[in-house]
Amino acid sequence: MSRISATDGNALKYLSANCEDCFGLCCVALPFAKSADFAFDKDGGTPCPNLQSDYRCGIHNNLRQKGFRGCTAFECFGAGQKVSQVTYKGNDWRDNTSIAKEMFDILPIMQQLHEMLWYLNEALSLEATKSIHGDLMRCIDESEQLTELSPELMLKINIPEHRAKVNQLLLQTSELVRVNILAKKNQKKISRGRDFIGAKLKGANLRGANLRGALFIAADLRDADLTLTDLIGADFRDTDLRGANLTGCIFLTQAQINAALGDSNTKLPTSLIIPAHWREKHK
Ligand code: SF4
Repeated sequence: MSRISATDGNALKYLSANCEDCFGLCCVALPFAKSADFAFDKDGGTPCPNLQSDYRCGIHNNLRQKGFRGCTAFECFGAGQKVSQVTYKGNDWRDNTSIAKEMFDILPIMQQLHEMLWYLNEALSLEATKSIHGDLMRCIDESEQLTELSPELMLKINIPEHRAKVNQLLLQTSELVRVNILAKKNQKKISRGRDFIGAKLKGANLRGANLRGALFIAADLRDADLTLTDLIGADFRDTDLRGANLTGCIFLTQAQINAALGDSNTKLPTSLIIPAHWREKHK
């Protein structure tokens, strides 16, 4: 896999999961606990029983119905294929058992780096961030170099330190995108991490709000205005987004949307697609 530069138009595609080129790593490396999102417990490093010999999921088309909606809301940001094809050069964990554990340890590190690259590339694509494009490109380049290290060196990366550097730029991006709307509307700032679990916010005007890390689990956001909001890390599990407007919001991922409820009247950013389960009727 060749390196994609920061200015390459394919950057976001390269940072999306391509299960065809992955050895089912997320289905083996990561643990999950029995819950509404997973039908049973599984330890990290243990292959999920639903993972087939060809590294495809045997229940891919029925994940939600079979109790695995957590799998539909997970995004590796292209880390799986990068670890499989670049870091380990096409050597898989089944035929090369001696590298299996290391490979599974590398996956979450790569996943975090690719997630950061996703956000940085999104920031770079925005007109409002022109004043910091140079800083963004340097940080993208530095992050990409980290993803190309040997397994031994990758395991030594100080992820929290690098994330703090990236986060500074993402915070600057957030301010630059929302500054005009905040000035115009004189809206009250909503603090990061605010708890909106189960909140009744039908028709709410959250335009331009800072909703970083907000918990919207099972909240009612029908017909709410979320345009130009910062939604990085916001938890939309079972959030009702029918009729909500998320146009122009930043740092919203497909995995977040997959976890929510919505319909054809929900307005999404153009980079995201309507999940298949939104076409089913909600009770
Ligand atoms: S249910 Fe399918 S997608 Fe989920 S972990 Fe198992 S094999 Fe992977």
